[in-house]
Amino acid sequence: ELILCGGTEEQKQKWLPQLASAETLPTAVFTEPNTGSDLGALRTRAVKKGDDWEVTGNKTWITHAARTQVMTLLARTDPGTTDYKGLSMFLAEKTPGTDEDPFPTDGMTGGEIEVLGYRGMKEYELAFDGFAVKGENLLGGETGKGFKQLMQTFESARIQTAARAIGVAQSALDVGMQYAQDRKQFGKSLINFPRVSGKLAMMAVEIMVARQLTYFSAAEKDADRRCDLEAGMAKLLGARVAWACADNALQIHGGNGFALEYKVSRILCDARILNIFEGAAEIQAQVIARRLLG
Ligand SMILES: Cc1cc2nc3c(=O)[nH]c(=O)nc-3n(C[C@H](O)[C@H](O)[C@H](O)COP(=O)(O)OP(=O)(O)OC[C@H]3O[C@@H](n4cnc5c(N)ncnc54)[C@H](O)[C@@H]3O)c2cc1C
Repeated sequence: ELILCGGTEEQKQKWLPQLASAETLPTAVFTEPNTGSDLGALRTRAVKKGDDWEVTGNKTWITHAARTQVMTLLARTDPGTTDYKGLSMFLAEKTPGTDEDPFPTDGMTGGEIEVLGYRGMKEYELAFDGFAVKGENLLGGETGKGFKQLMQTFESARIQTAARAIGVAQSALDVGMQYAQDRKQFGKSLINFPRVSGKLAMMAVEIMVARQLTYFSAAEKDADRRCDLEAGMAKLLGARVAWACADNALQIHGGNGFALEYKVSRILCDARILNIFEGAAEIQAQVIARRLLG
């Protein structure tokens, strides 16, 4: 979407078909060890060398960093600034790594971050030291536009994260429901106890609300209408609902819920991250409150 909204015609022609066919795997390289929510303050710098650029600095929490062929990399091109205005976005090309040599490209090293859950993604910290980026790979061909280009993608990012949260929540409901029917105590399935069935009912209600809000945001986006407020609400609510559903589903499992061999323990760990990435809950709430204030 960064390329769709902010790329030059040549960049669109070059990158979009190979990204759409999954021939090329991209990754987003924004977060730094000292800069997360306040992304505009990031310090990784890109310096012009002839027609090309050299990137130096540290990034962290970069998903799939080893296997990707291209990084949408946000860096400071105006050293006289400390805010979002001096940032530019690059389509930085690299050679995908292997298990033996995860970062074979010159000027770039990295290490895996071991995580609590959501392990379908692999996370890395990265260090760039004179990492070369071709001049033609400056997004939109203009410096100083990086943060604005990124902001154009926030609505979709929130909507897709809300959708992922609903998937996690639905999965919690499914396993909780199954366990409540299979497990018997006091001669009956757990689902016969109102405190258990009540939990499942509330999960279903909350998932329905989050799902409809997410569909609404997505429909607004499809219709090209501004939906940052609704998308932020969907993401904030979806992440909360995922966590609450996972917690309730685990409670229904009793002691077994705490065992790694039961799926619900993984669902709980997976749910925890949704409130942090793609705009933490507190930042989402701040954006919503600002819009409410007009
Ligand atoms: C699994 C995972 C995958 C990720 N993938 C990527 C990726 O591919 N690419 C990438 O660039 N980044 C990625 N990230 C980074 C992610 O975007 C950041 O973790 C997130 O933006 C939060 O930044 P931070 O961790 O530095 O927390 P901080 O910004 O340090 O925040 C810490 C806490 O303080 C709160 N806080 C901060 N500022 C305020 C405020 N103004 N008001 C109230 N509360 C505030 C936050 O909400 C949070 O609770 C990933 C992170 C994780 C964990």
